[in-house]
Amino acid sequence: MSEFHVDMGPQYEGEAIRRENVQVEFGGPKIPHKFELVTLKGLDEVEHEKIEVIGPDIKDIEEGASSPLAILIDVAGEELEKDMEPVFERRIHMYSNYIEGFWHVAQRDDIWIRLDKAAFKKGLNSLREIGEILIFLFTSELDIIEKISVTFITDGEKVKELLPNALTVYEARDARARDLGDEDVDEFYGCILCQAFAPTHICFITPDRMANCGAISWFDGRAAYKLDPEGPVFAVPKGELLDAARGEYAGVNAVAQEKSLGSVEEVYLYSSFGRPHTSCGCFQSICFYIPEVDAFGIVYRDFIGESVIGLPFSKMAGETSGGRQVEGSCGMGLEYLRSPKFFQADGGLRRVVWMPKDIKERYKDAIPEDLLDKIATEEDVKNTDELTEFLERVGHPWVKGEVEIPD
Ligand code: SF4
Repeated sequence: MSEFHVDMGPQYEGEAIRRENVQVEFGGPKIPHKFELVTLKGLDEVEHEKIEVIGPDIKDIEEGASSPLAILIDVAGEELEKDMEPVFERRIHMYSNYIEGFWHVAQRDDIWIRLDKAAFKKGLNSLREIGEILIFLFTSELDIIEKISVTFITDGEKVKELLPNALTVYEARDARARDLGDEDVDEFYGCILCQAFAPTHICFITPDRMANCGAISWFDGRAAYKLDPEGPVFAVPKGELLDAARGEYAGVNAVAQEKSLGSVEEVYLYSSFGRPHTSCGCFQSICFYIPEVDAFGIVYRDFIGESVIGLPFSKMAGETSGGRQVEGSCGMGLEYLRSPKFFQADGGLRRVVWMPKDIKERYKDAIPEDLLDKIATEEDVKNTDELTEFLERVGHPWVKGEVEIPD
């Protein structure tokens, strides 16, 4: 588009920006406070096409530096529904990646964005222009949106102040799907939004299995499909239940084969072994197998340092991602920890032996009370030798042989 300093389009999705080419980075593991949030408002509450930048803009930030960021998008339209907020929010990822030299990964309070030096040299030196492009893409692709405004906040104190409200909104969205099980619905949803980065990846979104990015629940999938039936989210008729323990459905297998062009033939929704769900690159966390104790650990995107197997998240993500089925290493949304079907075929939560302290704290209501003290964190153990000793000492149910594996 000639009015912008850089080009845009789906051809730029999947473009990676290496550390040495970064002009500026927003969010990411080094920045504790960052998020993106779309809010539905009344038509009289949104000033159409208003863009605000609060805090230092791209051109004011030192080359190569990382900055906090909140992206607040308000939308209004007669036909818009509250359910559509997370759908629009996920489009921030898609449309940001349409921008030449601009890279967006993850979601919600995990966002990580990079602008490359070449795009900056072309004149893309203000978040205001990113806002203009996003508004152009949102309104041209989703004509149901009548009004839209975008606010970027890079003032760290302000982002920190607003983050708790965003977390409350995310929690309310996730809570909706908790009373529903996979057996209660006839249809799941699939998402191929991340195929630009992982060409054989399909997320299967079910009441019991939140999307890998942790940003699309079954309700959000339903809203996305209703909003844009030709878009990246589509309906998946469940079909026959082939294996209840592993969560294998004929309908899921058929869609996996079709959308991966034959690369993925079968998918187990509730097992990390055999035919596990594929992983793109946007997953919120990884459930990983620890051979020394024949059990699982959980690590997430913002975890700093090395997990109990001696690898940082970035390295483990590289080995998990790309749209492959990697046995014993599955990308997942953290909300899946709350699911009664969480890797049930492998022993579920009772086979989890390690996770970062703050994840344990955030999800302690989902962990059986008798298990809470028996899952090690980075504060308890530093390696698998220490983990083995810890599990024996606390009497973890997995090492005591008390966990049943369904046939
Ligand atoms: S992680 Fe899955 S659900 Fe989320 S945007 Fe990517 S493909 Fe879609």
